Amino acid sequence: MNTKTIAVLTSGGDAPGMNAAIRAVVRTALADGLRVLGIRRGYNGLLNGDVIDMNLRSVSDIIHHGGTMLYTARSPEFNTPAGVKKAANMCRNLGIDGVVVIGGDGSFRGARDLTGEGIPCVGVPGTIDNDIACTEYTIGYDTAMNTAMEMVDRLRDTTESHDRCSVVEVMGRRCGDLALNTGIAVGATTILVPEVEFDFERDVVNRMRSTQRTGKRHFIIVVAEGVGGVSELSAKIQDETGIESRATILGHVQRGGSPTMRDRVLGSLMGNHAANLLKEGIGNRVVAIRANKVVDFDITEALNQKRVFDEERYRIAHKISI
Ligand code: ADP
Repeated sequence: MNTKTIAVLTSGGDAPGMNAAIRAVVRTALADGLRVLGIRRGYNGLLNGDVIDMNLRSVSDIIHHGGTMLYTARSPEFNTPAGVKKAANMCRNLGIDGVVVIGGDGSFRGARDLTGEGIPCVGVPGTIDNDIACTEYTIGYDTAMNTAMEMVDRLRDTTESHDRCSVVEVMGRRCGDLALNTGIAVGATTILVPEVEFDFERDVVNRMRSTQRTGKRHFIIVVAEGVGGVSELSAKIQDETGIESRATILGHVQRGGSPTMRDRVLGSLMGNHAANLLKEGIGNRVVAIRANKVVDFDITEALNQKRVFDEERYRIAHKISI
């Protein structure tokens, strides 16, 4: 296939570093003599023909900004066979030969379906949750971890002053990676993740009590979004231990902010790789990073891969926080 025009969109939840990926797609494709279109607001924008021509300067001054210059959305209309067909026709009308889809696994299912309708798509993993099995890191995850760490450091100050317990919920949907690494970085007494079953008495109360016996007077409990229920948990801790406890849900602050160097570099390398694949007419792939190398997988194969939670790291985290 002779690729002349490619398009790029961001879809699903935004993540810091998406702009670096957009920039790399645009600049790589332009350098190779392709025309590049930016599709705004994800698959919705594709259905509505909301596209802009991208030139070298369209992506200037965005690498250090969080969010996505192309905006993002969730599109129920696209998530139907008729919607995918309509989007494929729109691509043909606009002369789009391939699309880079930056988003999470929902967005990749859309990319797979659109490829099935004759428009080659390449997925780039952009989500703070790190919940995509085929890649060791997703764009935005590193920034979100650093933000969560900073926020919990702030909580620690006030928790310490009052001899309290802080029960903090961090994001990650069904994935506990963000909670695990944040928990290690802040020295949490206990980390609760959806991948590992926990017992309230054994893993929360008894751990708090045994550290209390050796002189600890304030406690941080990090809870993954996929476990949730931090208000109830905090109340239960206070009832059971008598230690004043406060619940905090960090929420969307974790999605924003200037991307870390790691996310900027990862976004840049992945965006470059995706544009290279489409230039060769190769679609139905997901870009990933494995052992510090940028690689790609068949989308269906990638979607079928099972995430493996690092239980060894989880054990280490608890061993050194007691
Ligand atoms: P994320 O990409 O962050 O996982 P979502 O799951 O919300 O976010 O997916 C983003 C968009 O991708 C949806 O609004 C929808 O348009 C499309 N999408 C999600 N799941 C599918 C699917 N199974 N088939 C086709 N398109 C899908």
